[in-house]
Amino acid sequence: MNFDTLGLSPRLINALHEQGITDPTPIQTQAIPHAMAGRDVMGLAQTGSGKTAAFGLPMLDALMKNGRKAEPKTPRALILAPTRELARQIHDTLSAFAQGSHLKLALITGGVGFTPQIERMARGVAILVATPGRLVDLLDRRAVDLSKTEFLVLDEADQMLDLGFIHSLRRIATLLPKARQTMLFSATMPKLMEEIAGAFLTDPVRVQV
Ligand code: AMP
Repeated sequence: MNFDTLGLSPRLINALHEQGITDPTPIQTQAIPHAMAGRDVMGLAQTGSGKTAAFGLPMLDALMKNGRKAEPKTPRALILAPTRELARQIHDTLSAFAQGSHLKLALITGGVGFTPQIERMARGVAILVATPGRLVDLLDRRAVDLSKTEFLVLDEADQMLDLGFIHSLRRIATLLPKARQTMLFSATMPKLMEEIAGAFLTDPVRVQV
């Protein structure tokens, strides 16, 4: 199995090769075809399994198919992560995959001032990587519009619950279109997670490594 047979565009495969990535990991092999087919995905996978590419590549593949002119200024994809460090890692990984494309990424986390983030959002963002707390703060300030967001990823969802982000997640969900594709990744599947999955995902494919 290689990235070609998973259906990814040659452009993304080249970007992967440039980083020395040639063969998909098990979570990538399992998740990518379903994600490319537009299905919601619920993945049980640990950090280090390659899950960033598992959700990121199908998302980028879909977003790259749109021409620059058709690009709205509001985020088409939202990726939520529990910590600043993880959000930054995801942002950097996806930026490397998207290099040379028209897609603009932004990172929204706490610990820094609001003004640069508000200005950044106003300039237009295709892919927003955020921690839930700061995103809610920016939503309260009407600096982020999620009404045209087509892709939602909840990464390390169990950690987000442990950190008490449940209310933020529910709030964010009410602002997203119902017609969207959602992928949820978690290292564990506690009972509350099943409930969250039921609220966020529609008829998900379950993958596990
Ligand atoms: P992640 O689980 O997404 O945090 O990825 C963990 C590490 O694995 C990162 O350093 C990735 O660059 C790397 N990685 C992801 N996919 C692959 C792959 N298919 N082959 C080799 N390394 C990979």
